[in-house]
Amino acid sequence: MVHKLEAQFVTSAAKPDQFPVDRQFGPLLPEIAFLGRSNVGKSSLLNALAGGEKVAFVSQTPGRTQLINFFRIGTDLMFVDLPGYGYAKVPKAITQDWQALIESYLLNRENLQLCVILLDARRGWMEKDRELRTWLEHHGRAYIVAATKIDKLTQNEQHRGLAAIRAETGGDIFPVSAPSGRGVRELWQTIWKTRQTNQ
Ligand code: GDP
Repeated sequence: MVHKLEAQFVTSAAKPDQFPVDRQFGPLLPEIAFLGRSNVGKSSLLNALAGGEKVAFVSQTPGRTQLINFFRIGTDLMFVDLPGYGYAKVPKAITQDWQALIESYLLNRENLQLCVILLDARRGWMEKDRELRTWLEHHGRAYIVAATKIDKLTQNEQHRGLAAIRAETGGDIFPVSAPSGRGVRELWQTIWKTRQTNQ
């Protein structure tokens, strides 16, 4: 285990006016946003980052998946779980609503310090991920990349997969595995440093 900080669910937002405001749930904290395609391993990674406690981050929780979910990590940081994108079965009208919600958060949230884009290490950058990356770069939002499910690749595949991801990435890349915990400490340290340098 990398650390022991309590992860506590704070609130869900379906609309921008439901994003937490100062003093509503305590002072506004620096926020780290997690983004990725559905099934990329976001909930599993959030659980691993929070010290392996399966308390809060459950992707299947009914009603929470289309919302932006805020979790306080210890006393100093908020993890923000954004809805997974790219799920083919979702009607277009709904994805447009999500997009508006996500864009509103990413554009306007002043205490957002860092975005973590999750990519499945086996698949690398896909169209929707590229759109997101381009959008973040255009709007000057800092991001890093976590390559998930690295344990599913052989050494050779890891080498090739990570090189392909790196070739398209401006920021740092963190290969991670939720079950083995590989890379979780390194990712956590980077997140923690970001928080400190922005305080
Ligand atoms: P989410 O939809 O992005 O929140 O994805 P989940 O965390 O629910 O994971 C989707 C599926 O991938 C589940 O069956 C997980 O057990 C599996 N999974 C997630 N992360 C990893 C990983 O690092 N390694 C392996 N082997 N499986 C993973």
